[in-house]
Amino acid sequence: MSHGGVCRPCISSIDKSKPESTWRDFSLRLDTIHPCHLIKASAVHGRRTMRRRALQLVSTRIGRSQRPLACGAQLGTLTAARSRMSTVAAAPTAPLSTLSAETFHPPAPTPAPTPAAAPETDGEQQRRAKQILRRAVAATAPRHDWTREEIAAIYHQPLLELAYQAAAVHRRFHDPAEVQLCTLMNIKTGGCTEDCSYCAQSTRYQKGTGLQAKRVESVETVLEAARIAKENGSTRFCMGAAWRDMRGRKTSLRNIKEMVQGVRAMGMEVCVTLGMIDAEQARELKEAGLTAYNHNLDTSREFYPSIITTRTYDERLETLGHVRDAGIHVCSGGILGLGESDADRVGLLHSVATLPSHPESFPVNALVPIKGTPLGERERVEFTSVLRTVAAARIVMPETIIRIAAGRKTMPEEQQALCFMAGANAVFTGDKMLTTECNGWDEDADMFGRWGLRPMRSFRKTAVAPGEDSPN
Ligand code: SF4
Repeated sequence: MSHGGVCRPCISSIDKSKPESTWRDFSLRLDTIHPCHLIKASAVHGRRTMRRRALQLVSTRIGRSQRPLACGAQLGTLTAARSRMSTVAAAPTAPLSTLSAETFHPPAPTPAPTPAAAPETDGEQQRRAKQILRRAVAATAPRHDWTREEIAAIYHQPLLELAYQAAAVHRRFHDPAEVQLCTLMNIKTGGCTEDCSYCAQSTRYQKGTGLQAKRVESVETVLEAARIAKENGSTRFCMGAAWRDMRGRKTSLRNIKEMVQGVRAMGMEVCVTLGMIDAEQARELKEAGLTAYNHNLDTSREFYPSIITTRTYDERLETLGHVRDAGIHVCSGGILGLGESDADRVGLLHSVATLPSHPESFPVNALVPIKGTPLGERERVEFTSVLRTVAAARIVMPETIIRIAAGRKTMPEEQQALCFMAGANAVFTGDKMLTTECNGWDEDADMFGRWGLRPMRSFRKTAVAPGEDSPN
């Protein structure tokens, strides 16, 4: 596919006879496709995810002073995209409505040499970082137009200042005394074909981990576990299955829907994590009453291929799109301690905070190294990185529930309390968290008592309207 000259697929080959999978394949190659193909394909097939991605790509290219790369048929869309951007270098200056398709694919202009700007002094950089933080903390509604530079400026603030400002945001958008208690059950252990380097459930590392694959748990067993979780105070029950995706798993999907219905009937929120799902599977799960779907991005787009090679970042985003389009809450976060840098943590935050809607839940996992996996010998991530990530996430996604997930078992109580102060407001609690140890209900109840916390009620996300003081 050519980027220069005329946009061939736009003028010749987009019609309803194209199978939808063609467009899905295109959407996975965003760097090599004209956004207008996606926009047009989304119009033909009614796929909102593609349209959103195409718009993002158009905006990014305009922001980078590149040609918009769209055809005349999309003038209305570009008008909207242009009006949101302040710099439209190399874009036509005539009114968009008077331009033809070919006007939109002009030869690339030779960039005029720009005088080199004087490098910023440390003092200027700090002043700018403070301004970014001030503006972020003063926001009264979530923003989706974050740049990496802005998120990095927030992430790298002096740590206590960052935690303090995150606490201020937390108190404006949430009741700071409330923490959601979730229990996560593995409903199908091991035997997964993926190669996630941190995971004990991959068949590729089975020799080293010794983990035996099991069949899917019965509906009765799962509902009994949910009942126990509820009795102990959990208000959300999450179910995880070690699968790449749900293709060809009709019977399992039927059983899982029964589990979802059963847990909802107990008055609990219910979440599942089943690998990649398509639009139809997401719709069926929504109909069964699913509250949320977990599918983590894990890390930054750049670092991701060092951890997983069997599915792409864009495939993960595609599943999140299906979940969102079905009206299910999105739970998507990351794992710290994989060997990533601060820039990768910023990259992860940027990926989720610039989605068209922020995930309702952002789990922050600290890697629990499991012997036999490629990351089994890794050092544990420093707590300061966990706290930074929690606090920065709270500031850039003020309405999202931030969940301290894997790795909490080894965190001293004071560290957990710092996370709660800086914006974390959910934990996993119970006997186990998938294949790793978890803080128990009694232990958490004692800790809540000591720090003046209380369990969040089901289906209650925010308690305090922005701008009001906390009731506590
Ligand atoms: S897809 Fe899930 S279960 Fe499979 S290896 Fe990756 S993390 Fe483990």
